[in-house]
Parts: sequence; structure tokens; C-alpha cells
Amino acid sequence: MLISSQELLADAREGGYAVPHFNYWSRASLQAHIRVAEAVGRPVILGIAEAHSHKMTLEEGVVLGRYYGERASVPVVVHLDHGRNLENVRRGIDNGFTSVMIDASEEDYEVNVARTREVVDYAHAKGIQVEAEIGHVGDGSTYGAANDDTIYTAVDLAEQFVERTGADSLAVSIGTAHGAYSGTPQINFERLHELREGVGVPLVLHGGSSSGDENLARAAREGIAKINIFTDFMTAAFAAVKSVQPSTWWDLEAVGFDAMTALGLHYFEVFQHAAGTVAQTYGEGTTHE
Ligand SMILES: [Zn+2]
Repeated sequence: MLISSQELLADAREGGYAVPHFNYWSRASLQAHIRVAEAVGRPVILGIAEAHSHKMTLEEGVVLGRYYGERASVPVVVHLDHGRNLENVRRGIDNGFTSVMIDASEEDYEVNVARTREVVDYAHAKGIQVEAEIGHVGDGSTYGAANDDTIYTAVDLAEQFVERTGADSLAVSIGTAHGAYSGTPQINFERLHELREGVGVPLVLHGGSSSGDENLARAAREGIAKINIFTDFMTAAFAAVKSVQPSTWWDLEAVGFDAMTALGLHYFEVFQHAAGTVAQTYGEGTTHE
């Protein structure tokens, strides 16, 4: 079943758990994530990033995502991850993404506000939710280079940002970065608590890969409603292939697939351990056909 993300993230915010956002870039990665979600009987957000268009375009990604999402036994959100401008996001919405992200976080604050507002207006008219980002989540390879307070999202700006843009969820910077790190990142939990108190919409954590299970479980319990994982799937699949050394392409695909499902299961456990008996109230009345 295809759904948008609103009730799902609201439930996670209240329930003290996080919904996994797993990136896909191929049919196999998409199927692996859906298999995991079905195995645990929980909804999942499947994201295809604009930056991975060289592997799978947004047009291909949304068709495949909807094809498998519609047939899944659990609610599935097909999400456009890190859309950079209105034109791309608009095309994504028109093509059938059930949720989108506009990422203008590298721009000046006022440009970010204006661009996000523009996307929100377009998306809301079509019943689609919008994730925005404030405070840039950088790259793991340069992590630590700017390890001062400016890397963390400011609470007052985040509050204003949500009010001015109407964004439905907000990606914040609390110490993670995209890609792999050389060490384990320092998460600013105090800032997370302040953001959770001050900002009225669900919070999103990007750069979940190699951030440490303890950090991620705690972030999920203490105010993050959605956690994005990409790099760890690539790393796990490739490590498994190197270790098993499959002798045929079929075996290679199977080894990679199994490694991705094992990792997905692991992250469901880490992010939703606190969910326990949270009622599955989402989904009804929000299906997107
Ligand atoms: Zn991201």
C-alpha cells in the first residue's frame, strides 16, 4: 500500500521511535528494503536521491517504487530525497512520489525559506508532504573540520523556518554527516531536545550511516522521527561480496541482497525498539493510488 508520510511521522514523533528511510538505487535494493519491512510488518520510507540519477533517474525510481510499494503488504512511502529545486520536485510530484524533500540548505536562510515555501505550496495543493532542511548536514569525509556550534541547527531559526514555510518535517543538523566517517560522530542530544521542544513538526536525521547504533537508538527515542540510511547498505553488500567471493553473478547478486536485508532488519530493530506496542493507526484514509 502506498501512503504519504504525515501520519506515519506524527505517530513516530509521539511514540518515541523513528521510521527508517532507506535509499534505493536499483531494483534489488528496493526489493530488499520492502522484503525487510514486510518481514517486520512495519511501514517504511523508500527514498531515491536526485544525486543518484546517474544510476536510476527519478522517473524510473518512482515507477519502480510505486510498482512494488502498491503490492507490498505494509504501508510504503515513495520519497524524493534531496530535491534541489522546484522544477525537479514538481516533476517528481507530478510523476507520483508520495512525499518529497526540498533541500536548499546550502543556500542562504532567506533563499532556503523562499524555495521551500514555493515547493510546499505546490505539494500541498496536491496532498503531498514536504521535508525541508535547515543547518547543512555535511559530508563524512570532512567531518570534524567545522566542529563548532555553527554546525548545529539553531532552534529559533528552525522554529521560524517551519512557521514561514509550512514544511511538514524538518531535517536538522545535530552532528551527523553524509557518507562514512573515520570515527563515531558526536551527537548533540541537548540540541535535539531543544529542537524537539521548539519545532512543531517531526524531525529528520540524515547521515545515519555509521553513526553508531547507540547514537541512533537514542536519537529515535529522544525526538527524531525519521532516520536516513544509504551508505551502510552499499558498504554491507560490498563487504559481504568480498568476504564470500561468489563464483557467479547470480550468487553475487544474492549475497549482496542478503547483506542488505540483514542490515535493514538490524536498523528496524535499532530505530523502533522503543515503538513496542505503538498502535498502527496510520495509513487509513491516506492511501495514494
Ligand atoms: Zn541526506
